[in-house]
Amino acid sequence: MYRSRAYRYDNEGVVLVLTVLLVLAVIILTSTVTFCLSGVFIVAMFLLSALLIRSHHQSLMRSAHRVDQHRTPELASLVARCGLKLQPGQVDVFLVDQKQNNAYTFGVSSPKVLVLFTPLLKVMDVGELSFIIGHEMGHVALGHTWLNTIIGGMAGVPAPFGAAVLLYTAFRWWNRMCEFSADRAGLLACGDIHTAVSALVKLAAPDIRDQRDFERALAAIDAEDDLASNRLAEAFQSHPLLIRRINALREYAHTAEYQRILAAMNGNVSETPASSPPKFTLPIQPGPTPAEEPELPPEERWPWLKPKDLP
Ligand SMILES: [Zn+2]
Repeated sequence: MYRSRAYRYDNEGVVLVLTVLLVLAVIILTSTVTFCLSGVFIVAMFLLSALLIRSHHQSLMRSAHRVDQHRTPELASLVARCGLKLQPGQVDVFLVDQKQNNAYTFGVSSPKVLVLFTPLLKVMDVGELSFIIGHEMGHVALGHTWLNTIIGGMAGVPAPFGAAVLLYTAFRWWNRMCEFSADRAGLLACGDIHTAVSALVKLAAPDIRDQRDFERALAAIDAEDDLASNRLAEAFQSHPLLIRRINALREYAHTAEYQRILAAMNGNVSETPASSPPKFTLPIQPGPTPAEEPELPPEERWPWLKPKDLP
C-alpha cells in the first residue's frame, strides 16, 4: 500500500525544530531551580494532557455517534476511502451533534480520535466532506496530534513574560505550518482543488446557497489580508488567514509532486475492491433555512445516523 508524507508543508519541520530549540533555550537560560521546575512542569503537563485526552475519548464513546459500517455506513465508507488514501493509522471517528461547523482530532496513543460536528454533513457535499476528513487525517498521519500535546506543553513552560510570549508565538507559528500540511492532505483526499477551496470557504460561510453567495464569501475572504491588523493578529492564531490557506493550496495543486502523490494514493483505493464508492445520499443541499428546520432528533434529520438492524 502506498504511504507518503511528502506533502508535508516545506517549513513545518524547520519551525518545529526552532520552537523546540527556543523552549530549551528559555529553560536553560533560567536559573537551576527554574530549570528543575520546568522539567517537572513539562512532565506534569504531558500527564495531565494524556489524562484529559483519555477522559474526552471516553465521554465521546458514551455520548457521540460512532461512525461505523452498522450505524453510519455511508459516512464510514467515505472515512474508509480517505483512510485508504492517506494511511493515517488507526483513527476512531465520532459525530457530535452540536451547532459547530467544524472538525478536530486529538490523541497521543493509538487510536487517534477524529470528531466531526453534524452541521458539516448538511453544509458540505461528499467531496468537500472528503477534504475535511482528509485534512484531519493529515494531522494524524503527520504526527501533529501527539506533537501538539507535547510541544503545546513545552511552549506553556513557566517563563518570564517576554520569553513566554515568544514561546507562545513560536508554537502558534508551528500550528499554522501544520494547517498548510493538513490542507494538502485534504486536497489529496478529495482530489480536486475547486472542491477543496469550496470546503474552506464553506467553513467560514456555511450559509452559502448558490454561486453568487460563494463569490461574495470568497471576495470577503480575499480581503482578509488587506488589513494590517488581521495580518498582525494572525501571528497569535493557530490557523493562518483563510485566503493564505486557499492560495497555498492552489499553488500546491499545480505542482508535479501533488499529481504524483495523488495518483499513487488513488492507486491505494483502486487496489482495494471493497472500497468501491458507496451510493451517497449526501449532500442535503440546499438545506432548510434555520427557521424551517424541524426540531427532530439527529437520527431523523440525518437518516444515515439511524442504527441499521444487524443481520
Ligand atoms: Zn487543521
